[in-house]
Amino acid sequence: MRTDQPALSVVVPMYDEEQVLPMFFARMRPLLDGLGITYELIVVDDGSRDRTATLLLEAAKDWAQLRVVRLLRNSGHQAAQSAGFRRARGEYVVTIDADLQDPPEVIAEFLTAVRDQDVDVVYGVRSDRSSDTWLKRTTARMYYRLMCRLVGKEIPFDAGDFRLVSRRVVDAVNSLPEDGRVFRLVIPWLGFPSAEVKYVRAERAAGTTKYSFSKMLRLAFDSVTAFSAAPLRLATWLGLLGGMLSGVFVIGALVIKLTGRSIPGWTSTVLAVSVIGAIQLLCLGLLGEYVARLFQSSQRRPQFLVGYDSLEDHGHHTFAETIDETD
Ligand code: UDP
Ligand code: MG
Repeated sequence: MRTDQPALSVVVPMYDEEQVLPMFFARMRPLLDGLGITYELIVVDDGSRDRTATLLLEAAKDWAQLRVVRLLRNSGHQAAQSAGFRRARGEYVVTIDADLQDPPEVIAEFLTAVRDQDVDVVYGVRSDRSSDTWLKRTTARMYYRLMCRLVGKEIPFDAGDFRLVSRRVVDAVNSLPEDGRVFRLVIPWLGFPSAEVKYVRAERAAGTTKYSFSKMLRLAFDSVTAFSAAPLRLATWLGLLGGMLSGVFVIGALVIKLTGRSIPGWTSTVLAVSVIGAIQLLCLGLLGEYVARLFQSSQRRPQFLVGYDSLEDHGHHTFAETIDETD
């Protein structure tokens, strides 16, 4: 263990947050100072175009524990979290949004939970979403339903990116070779023992949302494609369906032709369109199957993580060392 390792790293991605930043620091600093443990506050400036960076560097002058990491350009909330995870030195790492929707006071509850329950992950779970709009609530519910299916695991509903993880989880996440990871899915997928702390999500304290519609869509696409090749296989099923339908069409068209009720040229047109359509979809589906295999092998995720080995049981086992054991 390095001597410069603080007990806690708090990672905050910020994109154009000049309005909320002073409030955030005013509330965060007394809280962190009062925890009675060593800490670092890592603000990842995700390519802000406003005065966020200036304000950060100013604040860091008389706040030794404030660490400013700047990304060259706007890379997105998840990428900013990845950067924070790589840089964090703490024994525990908390991720939190800058807009004070996640109350910083809950961090103290996270720390109590992780110590009392001997877990590696503590999820912050929203106990009510009344501060969100109807649209946000509905789309969020659809998102979590779908994700539970895809990840094939219980993922905590309404857990965003406000959580605490142990060093073992940080190392495990950092050693995943894939790009474009979605933290709220990858962390449950890893399967470390976890607990939940309920909290009430507040309104954004100042400024406007930095999650544009296109960024939300991006997150949804990343979420689906990181865990499932099902969309690629859609063409196969459509092709099979089309094949069956075209069988019916062919018979129908021939019957109509033989009973002499068809216009010249109609039969051959129907045959060509339906049969060729089905063949094309099937071929696309076949391509999809191969692309799916390539995709899965290019993710290079570990096949399993070992949680316990009696041979190595010295009271404290490490998950991260075993992460490279692919079959
Ligand atoms: N954020 C970021 N990069 C982006 C978009 C957002 O670092 O491209 C940060 C933002 O500064 C905030 C957090 O991610 O700290 C969550 O964003 P926001 O609160 O705007 O999302 P919402 O709560 O509206 O879903
Ligand atoms: Mg927010």
